Amino acid sequence: MKVTKKLIREVIGELVGPEYVDVALYLHGKKDVSELVVAKDLKISIQEARALLYRLYESNVVVFERKRDKHKGWHISHWDFLDANVIKLYQRSQQEKIEELKTRLEREQQNEFYMCKYACSRVEFDKAIELNFKCPECGTLMNPQDNSRTIEVINGRLKELKELVS
Ligand SMILES: [Zn+2]
Repeated sequence: MKVTKKLIREVIGELVGPEYVDVALYLHGKKDVSELVVAKDLKISIQEARALLYRLYESNVVVFERKRDKHKGWHISHWDFLDANVIKLYQRSQQEKIEELKTRLEREQQNEFYMCKYACSRVEFDKAIELNFKCPECGTLMNPQDNSRTIEVINGRLKELKELVS
């Protein structure tokens, strides 16, 4: 699997936060980048750059090394982007989505669902009995709902996700 800009946008945007996408894209493909250069190139303050970088570090997609600046005499962090960890994060999150979908699929397959004709609410059989088969929103009768289409959609999505992580 290759780390593309699209993948970085998706993984970092979704799992770390949209505000971290730019710095991640900036670091991707570079080596040993000083935090001063990050700040300068992204036109942000050093404090802002550090805050973004440390957040990415917490998410395990970058590493840093402190180096003493020969001219200025103080320590500056130098950063590297970890392609392999972006892939791991991506695969882990896809795996979680797969597990969630499997749970939903089981729930759909093992239960009968009831709905009123206006589709204001959808409840399982036990809940429908409790409600005397009256919609809690509009009071009209709730009938068994054919969920084969829902099951089909979940199965399709599962198939897609499994192909993405394989
Ligand atoms: Zn209703």
